[in-house]
Amino acid sequence: MFTVVCNFLQKMNGYYKSQLIYDYEAENKRILTIRPWQIENFFKIIDEDLVAFLKYDKCYRLADNYLIAMVFVYFIRADLPVDEYTAINFLVALHLALAMEEDDDDVLQDVQLWLETEDENLDIFCLQKYLFRQIGYRGTISRTCCETVMRKINPNHEIWKRHRHINHSGAVSQSKRRRIRCPRCC
Ligand SMILES: [Zn+2]
Repeated sequence: MFTVVCNFLQKMNGYYKSQLIYDYEAENKRILTIRPWQIENFFKIIDEDLVAFLKYDKCYRLADNYLIAMVFVYFIRADLPVDEYTAINFLVALHLALAMEEDDDDVLQDVQLWLETEDENLDIFCLQKYLFRQIGYRGTISRTCCETVMRKINPNHEIWKRHRHINHSGAVSQSKRRRIRCPRCC
């Protein structure tokens, strides 16, 4: 009986043990508290619901490792309940992350199309506005915070190996782009 109780308590202790991640912003240093169920459900969306989407995005232009880390932080900042860990909310958060980081309407439209395949009646901009409010309008996530997420949250997962090729980065000149080809879309 004692062993059973001990095992149960150990299990509960593990369940409630949280990860802490420093989330650097302009002047404030905040701490994100991350619980195991949040990690579990986030990766469930990736492993079960978004397989086709991630496969389609073969050059990681829509969802590279940094953007996915941003989506994770949005989920934590928004304090979403378990039933809101959905593919739709993932794509809405990804759309927001892309709007914050990329200057490319094509990628935004691509994500919108994927959202419409989930539900053609969705009002994407309304959902995005709602999420933006839920995260306290804090859409900027530092590189350090993204890298800490990748290092601490399921670090061996394939998703963190989605390194976007320099050719698809906005900060590359046309001539350099011609010289350095992305092997995934050549
Ligand atoms: Zn490519």
